[in-house]
Amino acid sequence: MHIDYTLKSDRRTEQFVPTEQLIFGKTRTDHMFLMDYDGEQWTNARVVPYGDIAVAPGAVVLHYGQEIFEGCKSFKHEDGEIYGFRWDENAKRLNESAKIMIMPEIDVEIQLEAMHALMDVERLWFPEQDGASMYLRPFMFGTSDSLGVKPSKTYTYCVFLSPSGPYYKAGFSDPIKLLITSRFHRAAPGGSGAAKAGGNYGCSMRSIQFAQKFDASQVLYLDATNQFIEEAGAMNHYHVTKDNEVIIPHFTDTILKSITSCSMLELELEGLTIRQEFIGFQKFMADIQSGHITECGGFGTAAGVSPVGSYILENETTYTVGEGKIGPVTQRLYDTLTGIQKGSIKAPDGWLQKVERKH
Ligand SMILES: *Cc1c(COP(=O)(O)O)cnc(C)c1O
Repeated sequence: MHIDYTLKSDRRTEQFVPTEQLIFGKTRTDHMFLMDYDGEQWTNARVVPYGDIAVAPGAVVLHYGQEIFEGCKSFKHEDGEIYGFRWDENAKRLNESAKIMIMPEIDVEIQLEAMHALMDVERLWFPEQDGASMYLRPFMFGTSDSLGVKPSKTYTYCVFLSPSGPYYKAGFSDPIKLLITSRFHRAAPGGSGAAKAGGNYGCSMRSIQFAQKFDASQVLYLDATNQFIEEAGAMNHYHVTKDNEVIIPHFTDTILKSITSCSMLELELEGLTIRQEFIGFQKFMADIQSGHITECGGFGTAAGVSPVGSYILENETTYTVGEGKIGPVTQRLYDTLTGIQKGSIKAPDGWLQKVERKH
């Protein structure tokens, strides 16, 4: 792919990002990557200054929400080099989302080239703080100026970066509380739940707002029949049993296939079985009460591992998991994942890809 760098600014000095600017998603870097789909092919790949994107008021994305996105990270190792964590998996998943939303796919190689090119240009923005990372947000949206409800003919693909601090500022701590309710659902069979599509998030805001009335940060989503556990807010659910099993719900078309979950499923950890199951909601609650389930949490790129200390029902009944604190298995999963990402634990083959210095 030919990438046009002519509009790139030539700012080459180290960018120190103060810690208070490293709040997740807050800070941007100087540049972004853009590419257009003209109805037949992807063209006009370019690295340009970060800034507004003009779209027609009638653009399909603004009316019918034809938008998909990804989120992944890179890490700076002791050798001073920057490594992307499983970006190829994100690129493949963007294409899975594209299929669901009837959008054009982008060759995985092209997506990787775009991410590497931008990360390379912005390497001086990499935050130096301990535990910091660079978050990448690739996304694609329909730009045709057309009000008929049909797939857009033209699209824009964009990648921008956000320097991020450690998700847990004061060390790995503070398990969250989730609301369990049959009132809101994230996805239904045959819907868009398995796509990382903006619209799924748009309609989750109402349930998050409702959860906050219970001092909970998110909803533990059940399936549309209220029988099975699906997702922990915008993360995949997991729990740990007394028998040292880590259980993740089977991926269905109402669950977003988390790359963090897939990574956990591929790990081989002595004394621990990590597997998938359909998790019945009633049994889950009973197993928390009996003590069979000892730890719970969520998996996702932003936090890696996010421990859940308790669940609350709408009638205010609270179920505390174990002692409501971070358990040893959760701690081990977190340490293993972050160790692999920052290079202190050997990564399985292909998980980390070095960002080469070209610009
Ligand atoms: C992005 C996302 C996740 C987490 O996926 P990762 O690849 O681990 O970041 C889980 N659930 C939903 C609904 C998501 O959108």
